[in-house]
Amino acid sequence: MKTLRLILGDQLNLSHSWLHQVDDDHVYLMAEMRQETDYVKHHIQKVVGFFCSMRNFANTLKDKGHHVIYFTIGDPNNPQKLPDLIDQTISEHKVEKFEYQLPDEYRLDQQFQEICESIPIPSEAFDTEHFYTSRNELKNHFKGKKQLLMESFYRMMRKKHNILMVNEQPEGGKWNFDQSNRKKWDGSPEIPEELSFNTDVTELLDEIKSAEVNTFGNIDAKNFPWPTSYQECKKLLDYFCSKLLPYFGDYQDALHTQEKYLFHSRLSFAMNSKMLSPKEVIDTVIEYYYEHTDDIHISQVEGFIRQILGWREYMRGIYWKEMPGYAELNKLENHYPLPDFFWTGKTKMNCLHKAITQSLDDAYAHHIQRLMVIGNYALLTQVDPNEVDAWYLGVYIDAIEWVEITNTRGMSQFADGGLVATKPYVSSANYINKMGNYCKECTYSHTVKSGENSCPFNSLYWNFLEEKKAHFKNNQRMSMMLSLLEKKSKEELNELQERARNIIDRPDQF
Ligand code: FAD
Ligand code: SF4
Repeated sequence: MKTLRLILGDQLNLSHSWLHQVDDDHVYLMAEMRQETDYVKHHIQKVVGFFCSMRNFANTLKDKGHHVIYFTIGDPNNPQKLPDLIDQTISEHKVEKFEYQLPDEYRLDQQFQEICESIPIPSEAFDTEHFYTSRNELKNHFKGKKQLLMESFYRMMRKKHNILMVNEQPEGGKWNFDQSNRKKWDGSPEIPEELSFNTDVTELLDEIKSAEVNTFGNIDAKNFPWPTSYQECKKLLDYFCSKLLPYFGDYQDALHTQEKYLFHSRLSFAMNSKMLSPKEVIDTVIEYYYEHTDDIHISQVEGFIRQILGWREYMRGIYWKEMPGYAELNKLENHYPLPDFFWTGKTKMNCLHKAITQSLDDAYAHHIQRLMVIGNYALLTQVDPNEVDAWYLGVYIDAIEWVEITNTRGMSQFADGGLVATKPYVSSANYINKMGNYCKECTYSHTVKSGENSCPFNSLYWNFLEEKKAHFKNNQRMSMMLSLLEKKSKEELNELQERARNIIDRPDQF
């Protein structure tokens, strides 16, 4: 039976069981589509990264003898929309059955259901064979529970998959080494130069420009740094194990003006495009650790495994449990617009200047930059979560809705009212100064609380607590901060709030 198998741009899993056999009955369909480039404004590196990886993937399938139909973005015969693409291919190739892999985005899931209802042939959905969990595993794990604690999910995953377990106990005697993962980096240990693949993507960039895809951000077309094939992803993984893993946990929360990547793996794009599976990443890291236990402490490894086996699978489960309502949540009722400097990086606030400029230049910021610098400012200034989401979904090379929205709207903006985070991730300058050196080179003073030269985060922090305190009155984890707020004199609070108002209205002008 002639069967059409559709593969999306984030389904580049070469190990998928679909591909184990080469035959004439199966036709594989891939397309660079305007419906995907245009649903949000993307960073140019993100569009290039996905298209380049898709082309490499399609060529590998062709080399193996599979029958592949591939539409480039500028192809005049490219229907540019999923339903038209499928209709056209079914009739042109006399297809008798349609098969697809379950998409990870709600929007596409809906679209597939509509397509399957409308086409005149039978259809079947398959798993992507990428994640450790199925869509509903987290939902089932938390059935009947009010709180969806990541830690409980993570421990279940460690046990179920027997990862870092010894005699059914966590290796190293603890489930979580978070407390030892909070070092500031002050110049040592030396950070190896990042592994960059320096691909020349000039032709692809020209095609994207000719097709008039609307993008933002910067790119060095002769030296595209991201991995775009399985082999390159594997190289990045091996590089991480040998060069970065020994210090990953210690410095995972650090910030630094001169070091964009510190000891972070930069593997998120490789995994989110599914070129690399989380299982391969975890197995490789653990194998390397067991071969080097004299040089690598369990805390470094556990810190890394927790991000992938814990947070990444947890966010996927939250997404499928809560969508579509999750995308509408705005529990803190935040409605201000996103400041213009998010699109230029031009602000006197050094932490934001560095983190946003880096995001625009490299389509990358590490977790603490996303959470405690950029997200912190957006939340403190009470920006509408829709605007925050659109920015995060566009700017990072790894941004796909299932993992972006749960991190942005949930973990960072507390718009879900505390489903993902047990308290809002907000801080004054104190935290940013403690974890890095941004404040040393800043126009503002991190120690001054209010007035002209004071760090904006200081007044914004107290203003946020004052304005949103009703939302936190039953939150135990906020009680200490709220009691400190209560102790502030009326005059002090007025002064802080006046400064905060000015910053929200006109950042950098006061
Ligand atoms: P490393 O620090 O080396 O971590 C290793 C891996 O762990 C990552 O590659 C990633 O797959 C996983 N991981 C770590 N933290 C998380 C997390 N909180 N949720 C899910 N997976 C995690 N990650 C995305 O993949 N896509 C996004 O769109 C995205 N948006 C974010 C938005 C905000 C506001 C915040 C606070 C975090 C976001 N994250 C997102 C999570 C995290 O910041 C990135 O996964 C990480 O910075 C990617 O860089 P890395 O590969 O060097 O990560
Ligand atoms: Fe950021 Fe404030 Fe520090 Fe400046 S002083 S870098 S604005 S935290």
